[in-house]
Amino acid sequence: MVTVPVPIRETRDASYTIVVGTGLLADLPHAVRTAAPALRYAVITDSTVAPLYGKRVVDALRAAALSADLFSFPAGEPHKTRDTWAGLSDQMLAAGVGRDAVVIALGGGVVGDVAGFAAATYLRGVPYVQVPTTLLAMIDASVGGKTGVDVPAGKNLIGAFHQPRLVLADLDVLASLPREQLAAGMAEAVKHGVIADADYFQALESTHAAVLRREPAALERTVARSVQIKAAIVVADERESGRRAILNFGHTVAHALEVTAHYTVLHGEAVAVGMVCEARLAESLGLAPKETAARIAALLERCGLPKGTPNTASVDALIDAMQRDKKARAGAVRFALPKAIGAMHGDDAQGWTVAAPEAAVRAILAGR
Ligand code: NAD
Repeated sequence: MVTVPVPIRETRDASYTIVVGTGLLADLPHAVRTAAPALRYAVITDSTVAPLYGKRVVDALRAAALSADLFSFPAGEPHKTRDTWAGLSDQMLAAGVGRDAVVIALGGGVVGDVAGFAAATYLRGVPYVQVPTTLLAMIDASVGGKTGVDVPAGKNLIGAFHQPRLVLADLDVLASLPREQLAAGMAEAVKHGVIADADYFQALESTHAAVLRREPAALERTVARSVQIKAAIVVADERESGRRAILNFGHTVAHALEVTAHYTVLHGEAVAVGMVCEARLAESLGLAPKETAARIAALLERCGLPKGTPNTASVDALIDAMQRDKKARAGAVRFALPKAIGAMHGDDAQGWTVAAPEAAVRAILAGR
């Protein structure tokens, strides 16, 4: 087991711990009683995870004399919406869940984002605990306190920063995760290597197969290193006023791909394509050496992820979607770009994102 402290103190003490290991679900009642004591626990999950782990978690909480209820919504990114958030909030109100409650987000990144947003807004805010059940959520989405929903204008455009009280990543639950979802999680691990740690990227080049075989030691090392990297970035810049923007590497293109494909592409797959496009962009702008994108693409391909230029939407549609992204400033699309594997372009003075010329972006998206 590995524990990673997240000492967030930017506006108030919002420190918490990430626990990564096996057999942790059995310890959940004790862990939440300690890190997030409450009179009642509202376990929010989706329709896939509910039958797999939802009942087990609620039963374990009740067996430990804790009051718990299960709230579920249909699985999948198309349900990461205001309607889902409203439905969950209404169900919790109807069930009489009060201010003395704690939300437990049990699921992938979609559950974490929606349940976290429900917790951030429910009765003006109740605490929550993240129990991620996908590799992507363990590696990335459950850490950092970004919560929210997608809206017709774009992805994650309505939301709140709300830090969890605890993140409990039980690697055992990955046994039931479909292989393509496991691969999708690797995209965010590769991202962490590119943005902050060349040694980690190199380690992934040799350990990715063991992770995809779900070998416990390889899973634990990967999740632990990724959350250490993400936690360090988030602790230094909780509200993304500076360097935290580097976590968006690959995501400007990825979000546009997801929106234009109406969320039929997995988030991790979109991030994979986005990282290759944005690394090529960094090369074409002279910010990164020539082999950067090819090396990223090779690792993604070995993880079973797509790496090619997007072909689901026209270049115009992708550019339009990017201009409506949160990262756009004054109409200019901005990118967090690598200067090498393991280091990002920028600094605190000039900022960590680049407003790339539209012609350069178009050329990359068109595969030129
Ligand atoms: P997801 O939550 O949709 O999960 C993928 C699928 O796997 C779903 O169908 C889910 O029901 C199923 N599933 C979950 N756990 C399972 C298990 N153990 N066994 C079998 N099936 C299981 O998607 P995701 O890839 O986990 O997360 C993607 C989302 O995370 C996106 O909405 C993205 O924007 C968000 N995200 C948020 C942050 C953040 O900082 N808040 C960071 C990265 C990504």
